[in-house]
Amino acid sequence: MSDAVSFQSVSRCYGDVKAVDDVTLSIEEGEFFALLGPSGSGKTTSLRLIAGFEQPSFGDIRLFGESVSGIPPYQRQINTVFQDYALFPHLNVIDNVAYGLMIAGVGKSERYREAESVLEMVKLQGFSDRRPAALSGGQRQRVALARALVNKPRVLLLDEPLGALDLKLREQMQEELKSLQRQLGITFVLVTHDQSEALSMADRIAVFSEGRAMQVDSPEGIYRRPASRFVADFVGSSNVLPPQFVERLSGQPRWASLRPESVNLVNEGGLRATVTGRSFLGVMTKLSLNVEGYALSLLAPSSSALPEEGMQVRVNWQPTDLHLMEAK
Ligand code: ADP
Ligand code: MG
Repeated sequence: MSDAVSFQSVSRCYGDVKAVDDVTLSIEEGEFFALLGPSGSGKTTSLRLIAGFEQPSFGDIRLFGESVSGIPPYQRQINTVFQDYALFPHLNVIDNVAYGLMIAGVGKSERYREAESVLEMVKLQGFSDRRPAALSGGQRQRVALARALVNKPRVLLLDEPLGALDLKLREQMQEELKSLQRQLGITFVLVTHDQSEALSMADRIAVFSEGRAMQVDSPEGIYRRPASRFVADFVGSSNVLPPQFVERLSGQPRWASLRPESVNLVNEGGLRATVTGRSFLGVMTKLSLNVEGYALSLLAPSSSALPEEGMQVRVNWQPTDLHLMEAK
């Protein structure tokens, strides 16, 4: 399968700021791809480069194998769902959705028919006559989605599309977006700073930091095999262990990541630890431990028998759960 999007050593500079810094990556056709990173890491700029609202300062961007240097946004078969939805307040829902088709010269009855069918797809049938102001946040989000989908893009770009929604609705929309993407088979590129969103929805994730793509991998790969300290810290909460300690444990003086849920309480063997804290998180409880002077977290089901703060315990883990990393 050919790549829907590819970046070859792409940079975008604003004066001294390198918003995107020498990024090389490929997004496959039909893939649900997430750009994940903290605020200011270059995610939106990358999306704008794909859409054609920005031009690279250096490097080359290809869409479906063709270089798009100089090709304007409207010739790219790409649509964007913006962070703030950018709906027209004075137009009702159906006219908001049909807008792109009107601009493309599609006749009134046909564009309304198309718009209605997309509204049905995003579960908004019956809302055609409402103005955006009379919709909930979740409904506005669906209108923004419908407005992008009605143009039948080959790539749909979504910039923090669920950021304004409350947790329950966000989780519901995560599932809906994912199933919509499967059903339509078009390439989705999702920007988010929320690691659980990226992990649950994406086929692959690029983790961004300071304009650079630090790692591109499947959610499992990113979570289980973080390549660097930054990724281990940013995605999930991990125990990032320093080289002195890792050398003691594995013989190699390298940074390592050890997920809290991989640390087990045992009756004998393992390492001695002191429980320095205990916090109930619902399904799981987190224990803070001191092991030979190093802080370590352990995550265990709240339903299991757990030691109190101040108690001495023993812990171990599978050697393969200690994942060696780069120092970055
Ligand atoms: P993210 O979407 O990951 O939060 P952005 O891509 O919006 O990050 O921004 C990356 C960096 O580039 C930030 O430091 C931001 O301030 C800077 N930046 C983005 N757009 C512009 C612009 N038009 N002019 C100057 N600096 C910009
Ligand atoms: Mg952004």
